[in-house]
Amino acid sequence: MSGYLFAPPKVHSVPVKGETEEYPINRIFCVGRNYAAHAAEMGGEVDRDAPWYFTKSPTAHVASDTTVPYPPGTENFHYEMELALVLGAPVFRADETEAKAAIYGYGCALDMTRRDRQQDGKDHRRPWDLGKDVENSAVMAPLTRASDWHPEGQRIHLEVNGETKQDATLKDMVWTVAEIVSHLSRFYHLSPGDVIMTGTPAGVGPVVAGDKITGGIDGLDPIALTLGDPE
Ligand code: MN
Repeated sequence: MSGYLFAPPKVHSVPVKGETEEYPINRIFCVGRNYAAHAAEMGGEVDRDAPWYFTKSPTAHVASDTTVPYPPGTENFHYEMELALVLGAPVFRADETEAKAAIYGYGCALDMTRRDRQQDGKDHRRPWDLGKDVENSAVMAPLTRASDWHPEGQRIHLEVNGETKQDATLKDMVWTVAEIVSHLSRFYHLSPGDVIMTGTPAGVGPVVAGDKITGGIDGLDPIALTLGDPE
C-alpha cells in the first residue's frame, strides 16, 4: 500500500496535567444509569446485576473551554456531568485489581445528549445513536494521572450560568471504576486510548444557545462549555 486516498481523520487527544504529550483517544464508552437518583429522574431503575453501556465516536470529542454550536436535530439538548477514566494498558478479562492498575488517569467530562432523540429511541426500542453520538458531545477537560488522584467520594457538580444543577459525590456511583473496567473487559480487548465516561448524577437538564456550562470534581481540572447559536 502506498498511502491513503485522502488524509486520515485527525486524532483527537486530551492534555494531561504535567505532561507535554497528549492522550490520544481511541474509543469512548459511556456507562448508563450509574447513579440511582439519576436513573429515577429518567423514569428508570439501576440494574444491579451488571453495568451497561453506549458509545460515542471519537470524533464526538471536543476540548473543554470551547464554544460549540447548538446541535441540529434537537429541541432538548442536555448536559450530563461525569467522571471520565482513560486506560493506559491493555486489559482483557481482567479482575478488578488488574482493571484498576490499567487506569492511566481521570478527568472531568460532559456527556452532552439530545434528550428528545434518546427518548425516541426508548419509545420505539431503537438505538440511542442520534441521542448520544452527537458531534461535539464528548467534552473532556485535561486529565490527571491515576498516581496523583483516585476516586474516593469527591464532590461532583455542574452549573449552568453559575446556577448549581448537579451536586453529588462519587460515592453515589453504583459501579466503581474497577468494577466497570473489569466488566467491560469481558467484551472488548480494551487498550490505551480507550475512554470510559462513568455516568451522571441527578439534576440533568436542557441548555440553550448562549448558556455557559461549568463543572468540577474535587482535585481534578474543571470543565466548561459554551453553547453557540445553531448552525
Ligand atoms: Mn451519561
